[in-house]
Amino acid sequence: MALPKIESPTFTTKLPTGEDLKFRPFTVKEQKNLLIIAEGGSEKDIVEGIVELVTNCTFGKIDWLKQPTVNLEYAFLHIRSKSVGEVVEMTYQCKAAHDGKTCNQKNFIEVDVRTATHEPFPESTIKITDSISITFDHVTVKDVLDMMNGLTSEQLLYAKTKMVIHGDEVITEFNKDEFKEFVDSFPPDASERVDAFFRNQPTLVLKPKTKCTKCGEESFIELKGVLNFFG
Ligand SMILES: [Zn+2]
Repeated sequence: MALPKIESPTFTTKLPTGEDLKFRPFTVKEQKNLLIIAEGGSEKDIVEGIVELVTNCTFGKIDWLKQPTVNLEYAFLHIRSKSVGEVVEMTYQCKAAHDGKTCNQKNFIEVDVRTATHEPFPESTIKITDSISITFDHVTVKDVLDMMNGLTSEQLLYAKTKMVIHGDEVITEFNKDEFKEFVDSFPPDASERVDAFFRNQPTLVLKPKTKCTKCGEESFIELKGVLNFFG
């Protein structure tokens, strides 16, 4: 007689960008594969491993490389929660100072990862001058992997520029050289606003409240980026 086939339960949640997400928990085999990568792999290997795992657990319905990174983080967090549990144990060292001495007590806390929130998406149209602005596409998982493979921030800027708006005119076709000349002519404050768009791409944030077992100091620790939740 054949052994029974185990059907995974299916769950639904909403991605940070608002779409419904259907997923199943990962299997022991998938978990093992991920642990092997997490132990010996580079950061890039880990991201690729998560993409593969999340793709399988969401029935291949979403091209995760084209998604904003926060969506991938969110999906991974929820798949992991339903697979191995919602609560993770973390350690933190108390940084409170008493009479000039830092406490340094090592504490354990249990955190429900479902309490993670995400930062808002930055406004995608950035004003360069009173009559010129740029609209960017959101940064995707593929962009992050490309940067791990050596894509420069200059190349990313070109790749992510959806259009340049000049008065009533919308410009969508320009080559790299034309674009570089354009970017080099930005006023410094506009350049800073463009940098901020890339710097402020959202990530998941976990901010558990802590209480030191030695000195009683209460505070919050903040963890950004899903990979830091399980370290
Ligand atoms: Zn303390």
